[in-house]
Amino acid sequence: MTGILPSYLCDRWWTPEEDPDAADVRDASTGDLITRVSSRGIHLAEALAHARTVGQHSLGALTFHQRALLLKQFALALTAHKEELAEMSKRAGSTARDSLSDVDGGIGVLFTYASKGRRELPNARVIVDGAAEPLSKDGSFLGRHLYSRLPGVAVQINAYNFPMWGALEKFAPAFLAGVPSIVKPATPTAYVAEAWVRVLVDAGLLPDGALQLVSGAVPDLFAHLRLGDLVGFTGSATTAATLRAQAAAGVRFTTETDSINASVLAPDAAPGTPEFDAYVKQLLVELTSKAGQKCTAIRRAIVPSSSVDAVVSALRDTIAARVVIGDPHADAVTMGPLVSLDQRDEVRRQIAVLRDAGGRVLIGSTDEPEVMRADGSVGPAPEGAFVQPVMLGFDDPRTPAVHEVEAFGPVASILGYETLDEAAELVNLGGGSLVTSVATGDPAVAAELLARIGAYNGRVLFVGRDNARTSTGHGAPVPHLVHGGPGRAGGGEELGGIRAVLHHMQRTAVQGSPDVLTAITGVWHAGAVSATGIHPFRKSLTELRLGDRFASPTRAVTLDDIETFAHFTGDTFYAHMDEAAASANRFFPGRVAHGYLLVSFAAGLFVDPDPGPVLANYGLENLRFVTPVSPDDEVRVTLTAQQITPRETDDYGEVRWDAVIHNQRDEIVATYEVLTLVAKEWVEGDGARVTT
Ligand code: NAP
Repeated sequence: MTGILPSYLCDRWWTPEEDPDAADVRDASTGDLITRVSSRGIHLAEALAHARTVGQHSLGALTFHQRALLLKQFALALTAHKEELAEMSKRAGSTARDSLSDVDGGIGVLFTYASKGRRELPNARVIVDGAAEPLSKDGSFLGRHLYSRLPGVAVQINAYNFPMWGALEKFAPAFLAGVPSIVKPATPTAYVAEAWVRVLVDAGLLPDGALQLVSGAVPDLFAHLRLGDLVGFTGSATTAATLRAQAAAGVRFTTETDSINASVLAPDAAPGTPEFDAYVKQLLVELTSKAGQKCTAIRRAIVPSSSVDAVVSALRDTIAARVVIGDPHADAVTMGPLVSLDQRDEVRRQIAVLRDAGGRVLIGSTDEPEVMRADGSVGPAPEGAFVQPVMLGFDDPRTPAVHEVEAFGPVASILGYETLDEAAELVNLGGGSLVTSVATGDPAVAAELLARIGAYNGRVLFVGRDNARTSTGHGAPVPHLVHGGPGRAGGGEELGGIRAVLHHMQRTAVQGSPDVLTAITGVWHAGAVSATGIHPFRKSLTELRLGDRFASPTRAVTLDDIETFAHFTGDTFYAHMDEAAASANRFFPGRVAHGYLLVSFAAGLFVDPDPGPVLANYGLENLRFVTPVSPDDEVRVTLTAQQITPRETDDYGEVRWDAVIHNQRDEIVATYEVLTLVAKEWVEGDGARVTT
C-alpha cells in the first residue's frame, strides 16, 4: 500500500501510524494512486507551541535584512529543484506553462520579498510608520507609530490549485515579519507542498521552528489559537464561512475565496483592433491555464452586444487551433485535466446550475473529450479528470446565477451590454472580485470605468495595444501589488507588497520623550541626546552613534554669491535677480538666495574633505525651504546622525543625516535628510583603505 505523506512538525518529519481512512490522492490524468494523506494523531497544540517559542525565538534574533537574505537563499535552493517540482506538478494536471505560475511564480515571490525587504525595510526588528508627531510645544513629548511582529504563529490554509505559489505568497511575508508559519496545503496537491518544504529542510537553511507543514487535517485548530496568532485562508467561500464562525476573538483571520471575475471589452475595442485580439487571447489563456482552476480566472466576459458573436467565433477558432487537452506529460498538451474526478464532477454540476438558470452552451460541451495521453496517443481517458473549455451565453445579462456561481474549471460566460454604465453595473453584480480586466485603447474609458468599478475589485488591469505584449495578464497577481478583493472575494487585501509584512505585525502608537523614541525606534529624534566632538564623517559605521553631530560655523551669503550662482547655473529666476519683481511677490522680502545655493553652501560647511569612511553621498530626502535668505544674511548647518543601517552583504552601510540650516536669527531656513554610504571599518594613513 502507498505510504502516508509525512508532515514536518517541531523541526522533524512525522508520519501518522497507518490510517485506513487516509485520503487517496491520484494522478489527475491516469487515476494512479500517488500518495495518501492523513494527520491522524497529530499533536497540533505541540506544533503551535513550538512555533510560538522556538520559532519566535529564532526569527526574533534576525533583522528584516537577515530574514530577507534567507528568503533569497530559499529561492535559490528551490530554483535548483525547479524541474523536478514542475515534473511532479504534472501529476496534479499542471502543464509546463501552468508550472510557470505555480513553481516559478512561487520562487519569484521569495525573490521579490528578499529584494523588497532589503530595499524598503530597515535593517532592524521594528518598522517606523509615518512621521513623528510633536505633542508638546517644547518638543519634549512626541508620538510615533511603530510596527512590531505578532507574538504568535501564522497558520496558512491553502487551496489546492497553487500548492507552491499560493503557500509561498503567505509564507514569505510572514517570515520577513519574523512570524513562524504552519502551512496546511489542500489534500489533492499536498505532495507538491511536501516536496518544496523538503527542499528547504534539506538545504538546512530554515531557522528552528520557522516553518512547519501539516499534511492533512488540522483538527480543533481554532480551539488552540489565541491573541497574537493569525490564520490566512485561501479556498472556497463555504469553507471560509465555516472557519470564520470558529475564529476566536483576537485571532486575525483573513480569507481569499472564490471570485466571479469579469473582463470587459470596451466599446472602442471593436473586431479588427489590437485590443480585440488581445481580449480574445486573454480569454483563451484564462479558460485554459490551470484548466481554469484559478481564483483569478475570467468567469464573466462582458462585451458590447454587437460584438458577442465576433468574440465567440474568434474564441472558438482560437481554441480549435491552439488547445490540446491531455496528460501534461505529453509535450504537445496545452491544457491539462482538473485536479481530481471529484473536481470534474463538481464543475459539471456547476455548469448544470448555470444552464438551468438560462445559460446556453456556445463553445464546448460537458461530454468527455478525446485527449492526448502521456505516450502521445489520442482517445478517451475515463480515469482522467478532463473537461473541455466551455463558454455559456445568457439572454439576460442580469441573471443572478451568472454573477454568483463559480464553476472552478475551464468555464466562462459571455454577457452583452449596451452602454458603459451597464458594463460597470454588470461587473459590480459579481459582489466583489479579485480582478477585473478591461481591453481598451481609450484612456478616458479606462478612467470612467475605474471610477465605477474600482471599489468592487482588488485589482483592475487595463490592456491596450501598447501593453498587450508586456502585460503580466489578467490572471496573474504580482507579489508587489494587492492580491485579494472585497465582498465575495473574501475581503482580503493584505497580500502583496510590504503591506503583507505589516499584516503580520501590530501597529502601536508610542508616546514619550525624544530619547525614549530614539531608543525604541533606532531613529534619532530631534531633541534627543546628541554629541559633538570628532567630526562624524571621520567615524566608521562601527564607531558612529545615533545623535553624533557636526555644527558648522556661519557663512555670509552675499549678493555677489547669488549672482555668481545664477549665472553659473543659468537659474536667473527673477526672485534672485530683480529686486522690484521679487518684492512684488508675497513670498519674498526682496531678492533672495537660491535654495540650492544654500544646500550647496551647507555641503561646503559640513564637508570633511580628506578621504575617510564616508564613501559617497547618494541623495537628499524631504528637502523643504522654510525661510528665505536675503543678501548679507548668514547661514550655518547642523548635521546629526539619524539612522545607521549596516548592509548585511557589503563592507559599508547607509547613514541618514538630519540636516537643518539656520540663519543668524536662529530661524530655520531649510530642513532635509542627507543620505550617505559609510564604510563599516576605516584605517587612517597608509593610503587609507576600507577594511571589512
Ligand atoms: P476548499 O475546499 O475550501 O479548501 C481550502 C483549504 O481549506 C484546504 O486546504 C482544505 O484542506 C482546508 N479545509 C477544509 N475544511 C477545513 C476545516 N474544517 N478546517 C481547516 N481547514 C479546512 O477549497 P479548494 O477546493 O482547495 O480550492 C478551490 C477554491 O478556492 C475555489 O473556490 C477558488 O475560487 C478558491 N481560491 C481562491 C483563491 C483566492 O486567492 N481568492 C485562490 C485559490 C483558490 P483539505 O483539502 O485537506 O480539506
